[in-house]
Amino acid sequence: MTDDIARSRPLTRRSFIASAVAAAIAAGCSSDDDPSSGAPTPTTVAPTPAPEPTPASVPAVDLPGDPFTLGVASGDPTESSVILWTRLAPDPLSGGGMPGDDIEVMWEVATDDAFTDVVRRGSAVAMAELAHSVHVDADGLEPDSSYHYRFTIDDFTSPLGRTRTFPAADTSPPNLRFGFSSCQNWEQGFYAAHRHAAAEDLAFFVWLGDYIYESGAGDGVRTHNGPEIMTLDDYRNRYALYKTDLDLQAHHAARPWLTTWDDHEVENNYAGDNSENADPIDVFRDRRAGAYLAWYEHMPVRLDPPDGPDYEIHRDLVWGDLARFFVMDGRQYRADQPRDGESRPLPGFGDSASLGVFTLADDAADPANTFLGAEQQRWLIDGMAASTQTWNFMAQQVLMQGLNILGTDPPLTVTDLWDGYAGSRREVLEQLAANGPDNIVVLTGDFHSAAAGDVRTDPFDLDTPVVASEFMATSISSAFFDGAEALAALVLATNPQLKFFDARKGYTVCEMTPDALVAEYRAIADPADPDSPIETIATFDVAAGTPGVTLRP
Ligand code: FE
Ligand code: CA
Repeated sequence: MTDDIARSRPLTRRSFIASAVAAAIAAGCSSDDDPSSGAPTPTTVAPTPAPEPTPASVPAVDLPGDPFTLGVASGDPTESSVILWTRLAPDPLSGGGMPGDDIEVMWEVATDDAFTDVVRRGSAVAMAELAHSVHVDADGLEPDSSYHYRFTIDDFTSPLGRTRTFPAADTSPPNLRFGFSSCQNWEQGFYAAHRHAAAEDLAFFVWLGDYIYESGAGDGVRTHNGPEIMTLDDYRNRYALYKTDLDLQAHHAARPWLTTWDDHEVENNYAGDNSENADPIDVFRDRRAGAYLAWYEHMPVRLDPPDGPDYEIHRDLVWGDLARFFVMDGRQYRADQPRDGESRPLPGFGDSASLGVFTLADDAADPANTFLGAEQQRWLIDGMAASTQTWNFMAQQVLMQGLNILGTDPPLTVTDLWDGYAGSRREVLEQLAANGPDNIVVLTGDFHSAAAGDVRTDPFDLDTPVVASEFMATSISSAFFDGAEALAALVLATNPQLKFFDARKGYTVCEMTPDALVAEYRAIADPADPDSPIETIATFDVAAGTPGVTLRP
């Protein structure tokens, strides 16, 4: 696939956000200006020096009800700033319920939850054409510091959020602890895993995709709103449904997130411009444009909004000299999935056809069948080669280490995984082996099951070198098929690179020092139980300088 956005890009893109009318000011407020004494009005934030003028095009608007039904979120921190998010939606499941006007929102960042020590405040415009979403770049913050934040309009105050900046790039933090997961199908489970994750001590959370699912209302512990989503309005209402969940809101409010997408933010198993259902390309690209815009509107990302079906979201973030995160897009630039025919159920594994199991077609071995697209692949390899951080994470979507389900040649596998792009994978990994840093860790979601293992340049040739360690988080709530335990026993026996496979629901916690990394897998007992307890089901070690994972006995 040709790459039409090959261009150099800055590490951060803040043009839209920084210019967003917001007059962020160093508060320096005196005690008689105490914002905790009542909801601030625009006059109480009249700063010294004077703010940029509020546009005359933003009149006062009467709200029909509390606009903060979807909570707050923060994301993509730097050493001095963080993106603060909310969306005004008094009637969240029916288009938001806002008037058709843009509306001004006030925001504050404080060192305490009573907001007696406000360090930054300002106003931003919630634009009607962006579903009254707000992305504030709250800058001028101290590195490696925790903050509280909130939004206000008239007498309405949002839920409070907590966030945290990254350490300065030129510092040497002694450790880092973060969490990651993916896949929160609304119908297939409650979000007890989010509630437990929110209570953990984590600097941030990495979301690896399938934030929503596009399918129509079906059976489950709760039901999707309406049929399969196709239009911008449909996607907005689906994001709103998911974001009404209070455990999810609490987890966003607890810490910043680094967020990428997978397939279900648009359509199951799509690849580039290719719809699963072979829709005409222009029809599918129109659908994708709406889906991508709705994703932007609901995620706390340091990005400009898209203006069509092409949207560059890959970006990297630096945590002192300890860690670098390459947040990747494994969907938009893919060639179509090479396969040899219809998906086949595995003999004796019930409804396993839903996995999408194929014998690989010959063209899977051709690196021209790209997984990342030329520009993103160059960005990843060049960024890895230039990294001065100890640990280098690929925050991406699908299993990279290979899955030869029956141990056959050619493999019977899932072509939606990197296996479907075996030649492209080999090209990427050989370049990372030649020029990349020592400690590459692949963070993976998508498969509704947890796994851990070693990533070789050729996963099915044990004579090729281990280039990276891979941790695949399970899903928050999305279901695996019924034969999980039997399949786990099978694939662990047929895949020596694979050290662990478990389909319980939950998330993974990753903690590291300059010398070692530990990954702990947490699982809830039952996704159908909103009060489900959680336990640690496996712990892995990686030693700096030696790629590959070791399961603790
Ligand atoms: Fe999923
Ligand atoms: Ca997926």
